[in-house]
Amino acid sequence: MPFTERAYFPAGAAAAGAGTFPAFQFRGRHEGPDWRRLSAVDVGRVWREGDVAALQEHLEHVTFCSAERERCPHCQGPADPLLLKLLRLAQLCTEYLLHSQEYLSAQLGGLEEALRAAQAQRDRLAEEVAQRAQEVKGLKEECRRRKKMISTQQMMLEARASYHQVRGEELAARPPVSCGSESH
Ligand SMILES: [Zn+2]
Repeated sequence: MPFTERAYFPAGAAAAGAGTFPAFQFRGRHEGPDWRRLSAVDVGRVWREGDVAALQEHLEHVTFCSAERERCPHCQGPADPLLLKLLRLAQLCTEYLLHSQEYLSAQLGGLEEALRAAQAQRDRLAEEVAQRAQEVKGLKEECRRRKKMISTQQMMLEARASYHQVRGEELAARPPVSCGSESH
């Protein structure tokens, strides 16, 4: 994870190819500011109304323009270097945050994909569990049926055994009967 203590450190060009996400590198800035578009923006109104749609509209142009060659419209002197520095840093901050946003979106997309796969697997497993539970139910019924059959057979065997025992005792108790032969 390139996130440490809530700060994001993007993989540089040295680590390129390690992941599927492109390496981070600040873009070059060649186009001058679009003064006509800028003069049409009422920054105070954007601020008051929280007009993020207007920000989105100017995000690209403001972040990736270069004001290095701009001159003072009054004396044609170079722009205030400290103000230029402030603008450049703000542009780099925005570019970095845009990259973090893209990185997090990609991460989120991957995680959503994994979640969908896990949910599909869970559904498959739930179906399998239901099917197996049905099988268990069937086997339990079969088991009960057989137990009943076995106990019935056992009762029959016991009844036969006691019948034979009684018969045997009766036979043993009977006085000896001669076979009727005259030779005795
Ligand atoms: Zn000036």
